[in-house]
Amino acid sequence: MTFWEKIYIPEILRGLAITNYHFARNLVLHTAHLFGLKKDVNATSTTQYPEERKHYPDNFRGSHRLTLREDSSVRCTACFLCATACPAQCIYIEAGESPDPHVEKFPVRYEIDTLRCIYCGLCVEACPCDAIRMDTYVHPRIWGFDRKDFVEQKELLMHRSRVLAEKGRDGNMNTYTNREAPKHYAEAPDRIDDLTTIDRHARSGK
Ligand code: SF4
Ligand code: SF4
Repeated sequence: MTFWEKIYIPEILRGLAITNYHFARNLVLHTAHLFGLKKDVNATSTTQYPEERKHYPDNFRGSHRLTLREDSSVRCTACFLCATACPAQCIYIEAGESPDPHVEKFPVRYEIDTLRCIYCGLCVEACPCDAIRMDTYVHPRIWGFDRKDFVEQKELLMHRSRVLAEKGRDGNMNTYTNREAPKHYAEAPDRIDDLTTIDRHARSGK
């Protein structure tokens, strides 16, 4: 490094000059646009969320959903392949005997701990039934009040599929949380406890 690079001050001043140039330019242009002037010159702007939203590409890997059969039952057969493939060990499944005589098992409980999930998509690739997908166009949530808010339950994962079918790809933008789960899922017991997915795996010996 040269002497001037080592003392950083010229680079700091150069950075400040660039920032101030864009600040002043945008201030002038946005003000001019308010008065109908300089409309042909665009000011720099970011996406004006939430009024304006990015259009995600079709292969965008968003939050998970559990796909549904035609009768709206969950397609998952609780084979555990996704949980086995998951490198973050963040899928927890409890299998039960399916009420459908043609299906052996179904997930009584299916949860994804999104605080551990790395959104790699291996669960989707591992599933032999196309029962789990990540095509919701929903960003993983990065807010919540406690750990439970980040553990996505079966009912929520199923609901995303229903919303996607009914409202299209933007339908899930106003995504539901476990706590705001729609009424027709309200009969599902509150199965979330304070255990982490790892705790549960350890308890069940997996
Ligand atoms: S996306 Fe990856 S880390 Fe997340 S649940 Fe699926 S397999 Fe696990
Ligand atoms: S989502 Fe797919 S891989 Fe995972 S348990 Fe259900 S059927 Fe098996």
